[in-house]
Amino acid sequence: MVRSEVLLVAALLACLYLLRRTWLDRRRLRAVRRELATRDQILAAVSEAVPAGLFRLGPDGTISYINQRLAEIGGHPQGVTSIHDAPLDPGDRDRLLSMWREGNARSSVSTQVRIQRPDGERRWVDVDVRALIDEEGAPLGWVGSVWDVTEQEGYLSRLTRLSEILDATPDLVVMLDPTGRVTHANLAARQRYGLPVNGPLSPIDATDLYAPYERQRILTEALPVAEREGVWAGEVDMQLFDGTQMPVSQVLIAHRRDDNSVDYYSAITRDLSEQRRVEAQLARAKWYDPATALPNRTFFVDAVEVGLERCTRSGTRVAVLLADIDRFKLVNDSLGHAAGDEMLCSVAERLRIAAGPTALLARFGSDEFCLLLEDVADDAAPMRLAERIVDQLAAPISIGDDSIFVTVSTGIAVSPEGGRTSPEAMLQDADAALHRAKERGRARSELFVEDLRHHAVNQLRTATDLHRALEGEEFRVVYQPEVDLRTGHITAVEALVRWHHPERGLVPPAEFIPLAEQTGLITGIGNWVLQRALEQAAQWSTARWNRTGLLVWVNLSARQLGDADLVDQVASSLREHSVAPRQLGLEITETALLDDAEVAVAALTALHQLGVRLAVDDFGTGYSSLSYLKRLPVDAVKIDRSFIDGLAHGGDDSAIVAAVTGMARALRLTTIAEGVEEVGQLQAARRLGCDLAQGYLFSSPQPPSHVTSLLESDRGAGLFLYDEAPGGEVNEMLPRPRRAETAARPNR
Ligand code: C2E
Ligand code: CA
Ligand code: CA
Repeated sequence: MVRSEVLLVAALLACLYLLRRTWLDRRRLRAVRRELATRDQILAAVSEAVPAGLFRLGPDGTISYINQRLAEIGGHPQGVTSIHDAPLDPGDRDRLLSMWREGNARSSVSTQVRIQRPDGERRWVDVDVRALIDEEGAPLGWVGSVWDVTEQEGYLSRLTRLSEILDATPDLVVMLDPTGRVTHANLAARQRYGLPVNGPLSPIDATDLYAPYERQRILTEALPVAEREGVWAGEVDMQLFDGTQMPVSQVLIAHRRDDNSVDYYSAITRDLSEQRRVEAQLARAKWYDPATALPNRTFFVDAVEVGLERCTRSGTRVAVLLADIDRFKLVNDSLGHAAGDEMLCSVAERLRIAAGPTALLARFGSDEFCLLLEDVADDAAPMRLAERIVDQLAAPISIGDDSIFVTVSTGIAVSPEGGRTSPEAMLQDADAALHRAKERGRARSELFVEDLRHHAVNQLRTATDLHRALEGEEFRVVYQPEVDLRTGHITAVEALVRWHHPERGLVPPAEFIPLAEQTGLITGIGNWVLQRALEQAAQWSTARWNRTGLLVWVNLSARQLGDADLVDQVASSLREHSVAPRQLGLEITETALLDDAEVAVAALTALHQLGVRLAVDDFGTGYSSLSYLKRLPVDAVKIDRSFIDGLAHGGDDSAIVAAVTGMARALRLTTIAEGVEEVGQLQAARRLGCDLAQGYLFSSPQPPSHVTSLLESDRGAGLFLYDEAPGGEVNEMLPRPRRAETAARPNR
C-alpha cells in the first residue's frame, strides 16, 4: 500500500512538476514573445526613423523588407519584389550584383549606384550591404542601408565641372589667402607662372607673379582698392616663369566672410600680348608707309610741327624738301608694277642714304618723298641735301635686266626767320617749288622764294587782265611747222596762242593758259584760237603751192573737252570756214585725257567720227600707260619734249621713246617728236622711229605770214634738205630756219 501511495504521490508530483513547467514555459514563451514584439516594434520604429533607406533581401535576392525612406529614395516604385527589378541604373545593377556574387564569402560590400526613379529623376546613393548567415554558416540573405548623396554629388560634379572650365579658359585665375599667398591656380596660371600643373601649390607670394616694377603698385594701389571697394581692375605686367613680362588686364576681387573680414582674394588675368601687338601694328600703320617702312605724311607733319616749335625757340629754321620721281608712272607702266615697286624701294634707299642721320625721310604718295631738316641757318643745307639726292641717283638702278636712270624733281621750302609758319604752309610752299621744278624740265630742285607767293598775287592780276584780253584783241596765233622725217617737208603746223599784254608785253602761255583753265576763260580763248586757225587753214588750203594739203593742229584744253557743245562747235566752225575736217587736228594733253577718261573718250569718239585728226599731246608726262592708247580713238602721239631732251645725252629716254614708237606703230599712230633742237636729237628721233618732228631746229612758232613764206619755199625746192649718210642717218638739215621767234622762246 505504501509503495503504491508513494508511486501515486510521485506520479502526482511529476504531473505537478510537468504542469508547472509547462505553465512556466508558456509564461516564459509569452514573455519572450512580448520581448520579441517589443524588439520588432523598436526595430521597425528605428528603421523608419533613420534617414537611411534600409532593406533586407533573401538569399535569392527577393526583397523581404524595405523601409519607408528607401521607398521615398526610390520614388515609390510599384511591384518591385526582387533586387532584379529594383529601379537601378542597369549598368549599376549589373555591377552591384557581380560585386555581391564575388562578395558572397565576404561579409559586406559598399558602393555607389544610381537609382532611376519611375518619374525619371535620378538619384545617387551610397549602398552598404552585409551578408546574413546562420550559426552553421548557411546564407540567410542580406541587409543593407542606402544613403541618398545626390545633393553632395551634384555639388561635387559642379565643382569638378567648374574647375574643368577654369582649366580650359586661357585666362589666368588664381585664389589667394588673405595674406596674399596663392592657394589655387587654374591650368593656364600654373603653366604660365611655372607652378606645378597638378597637386597642391607650395606657398608662393602672389606679388612674385608681377613684374618687379609693378609690385609696389599692386601692394599700394590694387590691393587696398580691392579691400576697400571689393574689386580692383587695371592693366599691369606679370612676370612669367621664364622671366619674360606679359602685359595683362586684371580683375582682383576681395571675397568677404559674414563678419566682413577678407576670406580670400581671386585674380582673373587676361593676356594682352596679342592685343598689344595688333595695337602696335595699327599704330605703325598710322605713322608708317607699309611699302617702304618710311614714316608717312601724318608722321612727317607732326615732326615738322615739333621741329618748327623747337627751331623757332632756338632761332634757327626748318627746311622741307618735297622730292618727286620724274615720270615714275611711265617707268611703272612700261616695266610693270612689281618693277615699279622695286624701283620705289631702291629710290627710297638712296634717299635714305642722302638724308643721312640728320634729315627725316618720309614717303607721301606713290612717288613722292619728303625730307625734313632742322636747325638750318639758310637754304644752303637743304640745297646741299638736294645735291646729295642727285648724286645718289646718278648711278642707274638695276631692275631685272634693265638699268634705269631715275631723276627726281625737288621743291624746297625753308621756314621764315623767327617767323612762324605751319607744316601745311611749308608743304604748300615746297609743293609750289616742286611744281616749278617740274615746269622747268624736271630733274632739278627749286627753292621756294617769295616770288612764288607773289606768283599767287600775280595770278590774280593776270586773271583780271585775261578777262579783257579777248575783247581787247590782245591775243595772236603763231604757227610752228612739223616736218616729215622721211621727206623733209612740212606737212603740218601747230597753232599756239600768244598774249600781247598792253603793259607786260608778251606773256608766255605757261603763265596764262593754266590760269585760263582754272578760271574757265580757256573755253573762250580756245574757241577764238580755233576760229583763227581755221581761217588760216582755209587761206592755206586755197594757196597755189598747197597741193598735198596742210594739217593744222590746235590745242584743246581739258575744259573744252568736257564742254558738251564742243563737237557741234567744231563741226559748225569747219563748215563756216569751208575747211575739210581732215585738215584740222586737235591736240589733247595726256593729263586732260586722264582727268575724266570717260568724258574724254566720248568726246574724242565724236570728234573722230567728224573726220578730225586727234593727237595725245605731251605724251609720257601724264602717267598714262602705253596700253591706254589702245582705248583712245587717236591718230597721233606727240612725245613730250623732256624725252627728246634726253635723247642727245643717252640714258633711258631712248628706251622709252623706242617703246612709244613701237607701240604707236602697232596701233598705226603717227609719232611726233616735240622740241627737237639739235641734230643729234633729230637723228635719234629718226632712228627710234618717229614720223614727224617739231622744234627750234626747224622753226620756232612764227606769225602766219612768216609761216606762209616758209611753206612756199618748202613746197618749192624744199626747205629742209637732208644730207643723208649711206646708212640713212641724217647728218644735217639745210638750210636752217632764217629767224627764230625769240620772244616765244622760253627762257630756259
Ligand atoms: P605744247 O602744246 O606742248 O606746245 C609746244 C610748246 O613747245 C610751245 O610752247 C612751243 O613754243 C614749244 N617748243 C616748240 N619747239 C621747241 C623747242 O625746240 N624747244 C623748246 N624748248 N620749246 C619748243 P608755247 O607756245 O610756250 O606753249 C606752251 C604750252 O601752252 C603748249 O604746250 C600748250 O600746252 C599751251 N598752249 C599754247 N597755245 C595754246 C592754245 O591755243 N590752247 C591751249 N589749250 N593751250 C595752248
Ligand atoms: Ca600742243
Ligand atoms: Ca606738247
